[in-house]
Amino acid sequence: MELYADILGSDATQEDYKSVALHFDNERNHFLAGKFYYLSGNYPKAVKHLIRASQNSSSEDSESTQLAIDVVAAANDDALTRQLIDFLMGEVDGIPKDAKFLFRLYMAKKQYREAAKTAIIIAREEQNAGNYKHAHDVLLIMYGELRKQKLKVPADMTTALLLLHSYTIARLHVRRGDHLKAARMLIRVSNHISKFPAHTVPILTSTVIECQRSGLKSSSFNFAAMLMRPETRGSIDEKYKKKIEAIVRKPQKTEEEEPSTPCPYCSTPVIETDLECGHCQNALPYCIATGRHILAEDITICPNCKFPAIRNELLKLVEDGEDCPMCNTGLTAEKLQAATNWKSVVNPEAHD
Ligand SMILES: [Zn+2]
Ligand SMILES: [Zn+2]
Repeated sequence: MELYADILGSDATQEDYKSVALHFDNERNHFLAGKFYYLSGNYPKAVKHLIRASQNSSSEDSESTQLAIDVVAAANDDALTRQLIDFLMGEVDGIPKDAKFLFRLYMAKKQYREAAKTAIIIAREEQNAGNYKHAHDVLLIMYGELRKQKLKVPADMTTALLLLHSYTIARLHVRRGDHLKAARMLIRVSNHISKFPAHTVPILTSTVIECQRSGLKSSSFNFAAMLMRPETRGSIDEKYKKKIEAIVRKPQKTEEEEPSTPCPYCSTPVIETDLECGHCQNALPYCIATGRHILAEDITICPNCKFPAIRNELLKLVEDGEDCPMCNTGLTAEKLQAATNWKSVVNPEAHD
C-alpha cells in the first residue's frame, strides 16, 4: 500500500487519495492518513490525524505539526484554525508546543499581528536562555515581514531588537578592538542587564573591562560596583576578580562627556548614543554599525534589510570585510549609496 501511495502520480484523483487515506486510517498510521486526507481535500480529517500523529510521537514530531499547519492554511476554515491553535497552545493535552509552530501558523494564515506577538514571546524565551543570535534573527524576520505588509512594528519589538542588536555590535567591536564603541554598546546592554539573565556576570565583566580600556572610568566603576554585590561577586571569573576589586577600592571617576551630534530631524545636538531628541521629541533611528543615532548628512540604508546606518561607519566595517551587522548580508562599498529619502525608508507609511 505504501508503494501504491508512492506511485500515485499527478493524475491521481481525490477518490484515489481518499482510498489510500482510508487504508492508513485503518492501519492507525496517523501521519500518512492525515497526509492523504489532506491530498483528498478532507481537511478536518487531515488535521485530526496529524494532531494525533504529533501527539503519539515521543519526540517533538515537527513533520506532522508542520503538515497540519499547511492543511489549516489551505483550508481557510476558522474552526480548524482554532482547533490547531488550541493544540499548539497545549489546551488539548496540557503540553504547549514549541512557539515556532504557532508563529508559522500565523504567518501561513497571514495573521501578521498575531505572528508578531508570538515572535516577541519566542525571542524573549531565546534571550532568557542566552541564545541572542537566534532571538535577534526571529525579531528581524518578523520586522521585515511587518514592513513588507506595511503594518506598524510594535514598540516592544523595536525595543527588544535594539537591545539585542546593541549586544551584537558590542561583540563585533570588541572583536575589532574598537573599545570605545564596544563600551558604549555594553553600557546600553548592562543598563538592561535583567534582560540577559543567562550571562549577567560575563556581560557586566566585559562592560567594566571595555569601559576601563576606553577611559570611561566612572562607568567602569559603576558596573564594577554592581558586580561586587553579594549575588554576583562569587561568580566573577578569577582572571578578572583582582582587577575589578581594585577598580571598586580606588574609584577613578574621571570620564569625558560623550560627544553630541545633530538630531537627524531638527539638528539640535543630541548625545551620540541617545535615541531620543529632547527638543523635537522624536525617537531617533539608530545606526546598525555603531548603535548611535543616525546623522541626516551621512546616512545610508542596507539594501537588504533596509535598516539605516551612518554611512562612514558602515563603510569602515565593509572595507574590513564585515557583513551587514543587522542582516549578515555581504555588502560592498558601491552598494552603500548616500540616502536622501531616508525618512520614507526608515519610517514608511504604516497602519495598525
Ligand atoms: Zn530633534
Ligand atoms: Zn542589512
